[in-house]
Amino acid sequence: MSRTRTAQLMDGAGLARRVVEEASDRAAEVTRRSGATPCLATVLVGEDPASVTYVRMKRARCAKAGIESRLVSLPAATTTAELVETLRSLSRDTGVHGILLQHPCGPHIDERAAFEAIAPEKDVDGVTMSSFGAMSFGLPGFASCTPGGIMRLLDEYDVDPAGRHAVVVGRSAILGKPVGMLLLARDATVTYCHSRTSDLAATVREADIVVAAVGRPRLIRGEDIKPGAVVIDAGYNPGNIGDVDFDTARLRARLITPVPGGVGPMTIAVLLAQTVTAATTQLGLVRG
Ligand code: NAP
Repeated sequence: MSRTRTAQLMDGAGLARRVVEEASDRAAEVTRRSGATPCLATVLVGEDPASVTYVRMKRARCAKAGIESRLVSLPAATTTAELVETLRSLSRDTGVHGILLQHPCGPHIDERAAFEAIAPEKDVDGVTMSSFGAMSFGLPGFASCTPGGIMRLLDEYDVDPAGRHAVVVGRSAILGKPVGMLLLARDATVTYCHSRTSDLAATVREADIVVAAVGRPRLIRGEDIKPGAVVIDAGYNPGNIGDVDFDTARLRARLITPVPGGVGPMTIAVLLAQTVTAATTQLGLVRG
């Protein structure tokens, strides 16, 4: 009798707990050695309910991990110039080691100008052009958090991207583009797909590694997953639905991330880990 094989789940929630525990131990070590507590400043413009929830969640995680969090709440009417000045001032503040600008900030804000006001050494969310350039060139710097989390998940499950065909669906500056660059740096052959790709299904069928980063529920169908492929679903749509049709994809994939509990928890974990790393460097505690 033949039994249907299903993919192994990639447990992002479990890995994220371990990454946060490790960050927490390192934060305690920073405090013991320097007397300072690693500090993440979060800047929130306006009161968008989803953003307020994300910020609350991030601050709670910081507190649990022994990381100080400073909230800078600005009114919705804040101008780009005022936001830039706030971020520059946090960049100069020696008590702040990491800066997170919660986005979207609102249509009247030039977000690129705002991001660029964050000092690269405090850019723990990996949003500046400097961080993107450093990551792309393989130089030291902070990765964008979700792509960084995806790479940790691949490593955890011993997926070596070298020589594999990785298909990244989505090309946003915070997710699709950087995850493709990180996969390229690990010697994958990378194809980017986007809204103008002529035959998405045919390209996905060629993939050894699929990264879905679109924001369209169940766009990637199980029948297009190559048997034995690794499927990373970064999409998060209302109702806890990913960009991959999980039920059919898991019948063909070797490894797959669930939604929720896959990529999502890794994002905050990487943010905390990078904040502690930033503090370690800025406080001169890096061991030679
Ligand atoms: P985004 O900025 O809206 O980018 C979406 C990308 O998908 C764009 O590059 C777009 O192409 C492409 N696209 C749209 N429709 C498509 C289609 N039919 N076929 C192929 N490509 C298509 O989104 P994002 O910020 O990258 O987020 C993507 C998803 O990831 C969302 O569900 C978001 O909630 C989730 N996300 C999760 C985390 C996490 O922590 N887990 C973090 C960030 C984002 P064009 O460039 O041509 O428009």
